[in-house]
Amino acid sequence: MLLIKSSPSVKQLLHLTSLRVRLTLGIAAMSILGLGGVVIWISWQMQSILVVTHKNNTSYIAERFPSDVEIYSDMVSLREGTQKAIDNLSNPQTLLWVKSPQGDIWSQSQVLKMGMRGNDLVSLTDISPQPELQRVNNRYWLLCSTKLVVKGVNLGNFYIAQDITRDQMMFWSVMRSLLIISVIATIFMTMAIAWYIQTSLTPLKRMSQMTQDICTETLGKVQIELENAPSEVKELAGTLQTTLTRLSDAWEDQRQLVSNVSHELRTPLTVVSGYLQSTLRRGNNLTDIQREALATASSEAERTVQLLQDLLDLARAENGGMYFHLETIVLNELLPEIAGMVHQYPIPVQISLPDDLIKVKGDKNRLKQVFLNLIDNGVKYSHSPEPIFLKLSQEKQQAKIEVCDRGVGIPLADQTRIFERFYRVDEARSRNVGGTGLGLSIVKTLVEGMGGTIKVVSQPDQGTIFTILFPLS
Ligand code: ADP
Repeated sequence: MLLIKSSPSVKQLLHLTSLRVRLTLGIAAMSILGLGGVVIWISWQMQSILVVTHKNNTSYIAERFPSDVEIYSDMVSLREGTQKAIDNLSNPQTLLWVKSPQGDIWSQSQVLKMGMRGNDLVSLTDISPQPELQRVNNRYWLLCSTKLVVKGVNLGNFYIAQDITRDQMMFWSVMRSLLIISVIATIFMTMAIAWYIQTSLTPLKRMSQMTQDICTETLGKVQIELENAPSEVKELAGTLQTTLTRLSDAWEDQRQLVSNVSHELRTPLTVVSGYLQSTLRRGNNLTDIQREALATASSEAERTVQLLQDLLDLARAENGGMYFHLETIVLNELLPEIAGMVHQYPIPVQISLPDDLIKVKGDKNRLKQVFLNLIDNGVKYSHSPEPIFLKLSQEKQQAKIEVCDRGVGIPLADQTRIFERFYRVDEARSRNVGGTGLGLSIVKTLVEGMGGTIKVVSQPDQGTIFTILFPLS
């Protein structure tokens, strides 16, 4: 089972298109809307209850006052009766006063008389008959006025002012607390939601990490096992596992087919190629046209045999069936041998060797195959007669062999892909020079099969350097 652990980066955490961020933001937004709605509704209700209670009180005083004045004025004068009724209904929060039709203060609460508070109210002119909330001198007053007619006499206007500042302050303080609690609750809720969503999505993330490194080699070995995952995710993992197994089987079948077909075709084609070459050699009475046709057929047959051999090699390597006859090889001796093998090439091969002997463990023939392939490519993809260099050196505990050419070079975007099977940078050019697109994938397979590594550095129109590293023997 593959178990991969990683901590998400801030960029990943804030990725706006991720399901986690979307769900968190969506649920948090809905929570804020819901909580905000409740707070607004509560505040509206509280304010209504507060104002309505005081309005009822004010209306009650307004209704009762004329009959109180009438009762009191049966015993004393109308003015004294009015004052008595005012004194009876006044309290520190409720201020009353009566203005004569001429606008003079006829009677008022003791608090007003003594000028203790509310004196600014008396000078107000636009007080409506309906109780209304007004802010005067930083205090909240519920104000209303009515016509005062007692025993058929118009005494002027009766005014009521109720101080509800304390209640209003209490209301604001409750609202402030409610708002702060709501904000804190929303923050905690959002954090809890984010954590919960992240926990719920962890199995999906693990599944994606398990599958992202799958390649053709590991296709059949991957086991997607998720513990404590929700049943839906387990189902998805099961489906993916089945798909991977089917893919692996199909890949295996395809590999087998390529291997079998290559094997079956190689032998007869080798025979055909042999006959063609011997006919060419012995055919003294052939016309030029016949000779040219036979030469083309022979070279194509040879190329196809090479292609089939490459395919067989790759199939064997992938099945673990490639056999390496490992021995200690002195590279200082092997490289001149290879240079000797290619002396008839149109481009000279120059070698540079260190004084110390550099030994590696490898298969001599396979190593030759690797370097011949790279030199062959250097020749194929060079237009100038600049030599190809084979440089041997030691780097740390490794043998380093560089194959450098001054050819057409490889664009940066293609450099990671040239080791793939059948990948060719310029299809037309590669076909002209007779490439199959398998050479470098075989080189890589062989080098890695013998415990080495290969990399490429190249610049278009400047040249290419293939660097191979092998552990020292
Ligand atoms: P091919 O048989 O086509 O040469 P290879 O696998 O050997 O296939 O190489 C893959 C591709 O990489 C080639 O088609 C060519 O475009 C590019 N390539 C390989 N070696 C070189 C080189 N030395 N210089 C420039 N391009 C190269």
